[in-house]
Amino acid sequence: MKSPVSLAHGRPYLAIPGPSVMPDRVLRAMHRAAPNIYGGEIYDVVAGIWPRLRAVAGTVQNCAIYIGNGHAAWEAANANLFSRGDKALVLAVGRFGIGWAESARAMGVDVDLLDFGKSKPIDLARVEAALRADSGHQIKALLATQVDTSSSIKTDIKKLRAVLDAVGHSALLAVDCIASLGCDEYRMDDWGVDVTVAASQKGLMTPPGLGIVWFSEKARERCRGNDLRTPYWDWELRANGTEFWQYFDGTGPTHHLYGLSEALLMIEEEGLENVWARHRALAGAVWAAFDVWGSGSPTIAMNVANPADRGCSVTAARIGGQDATRLREWCEKEAGVTLGIGLGMALPNDPAWHGFLRVAHMGHVNAHMTLGVLAVMETGMQALNIAHGEGGILAATHSISSR
Ligand SMILES: *Cc1c(COP(=O)(O)O)cnc(C)c1O
Repeated sequence: MKSPVSLAHGRPYLAIPGPSVMPDRVLRAMHRAAPNIYGGEIYDVVAGIWPRLRAVAGTVQNCAIYIGNGHAAWEAANANLFSRGDKALVLAVGRFGIGWAESARAMGVDVDLLDFGKSKPIDLARVEAALRADSGHQIKALLATQVDTSSSIKTDIKKLRAVLDAVGHSALLAVDCIASLGCDEYRMDDWGVDVTVAASQKGLMTPPGLGIVWFSEKARERCRGNDLRTPYWDWELRANGTEFWQYFDGTGPTHHLYGLSEALLMIEEEGLENVWARHRALAGAVWAAFDVWGSGSPTIAMNVANPADRGCSVTAARIGGQDATRLREWCEKEAGVTLGIGLGMALPNDPAWHGFLRVAHMGHVNAHMTLGVLAVMETGMQALNIAHGEGGILAATHSISSR
């Protein structure tokens, strides 16, 4: 790069795995005066949210909204699922699985953590062995993450359910879909999931600030009276209240609700299965580019080797050396694209930390956005003399044109 002139001026693009790009429609829906919360339009907006929020998770059962982020949604699920001292089995394939385990443990849950590392999917045989070893059914719930955003590993939730069924274990199944809801196929009721948690700022394309918990009738019945519940976190009135304020245990998150309502309408208009297919196609373009880049470099590689084990909303990768940080900085300063840092792959004070990055392709993204990110990354590798296989963009375009 010899020219001192930056090409970053123009609309910046945030390609980090949350918060994701917010559609102008969502932003416009939020741009309004404060609504009356004692009647009127906001009641209709919320009445329209419930069925769409259920549909996006593939359930006809209960749904509760919290003013909070993903960590709040974890805590909400924990508070309702457990009494102090109850046992949870947590499956981790990255930083977020471990985070949910830590949250539960800090609340007084007796957590058994099965940690499968950072680059391989969960080992169902180990899960089965752990469940069989619990012959007294002390494990009250199994907590899993559909797509761990740090590693981009996807867990096959349907197969996990099948293991619970094969063992005949009574544990409730709870799934963190924060990074995958509205991106990867997910069918809560069909797959026999009891609790699903998500947040507004990823596939749901709404600003951070809403944590959402869906729960089965079975979970509702079995968890009544759990002593970790406090009035604010109790899911009962949030999901089944008779007065508007009870949905939010106080003032509702008015502007987030307008935004969420519009985002859910956009998903409905596109069709949820088309939304999933779009994410699959765009992820395929990212993976095709990385395959080629990696073919010309001993260090460039996606974190997850098998495409079937990769989430469609985010790709974690190694560039090597300090080159991920160099590339991220180049993309932001010279081209207006912000890539995600590597999360949980190395500690931030370890020089290896600078070798990892993540590319988000979640939510309000289309072909020109994702191909644009890839083209910028390839340009940055050229400008910085980062060794890479030539032709990543061609592979990405072919993966889209030939689908
Ligand atoms: C983003 C994320 C979280 C944490 O959400 P916050 O809103 O940052 O608290 C938890 N789990 C997964 C899978 C995530 O992607």
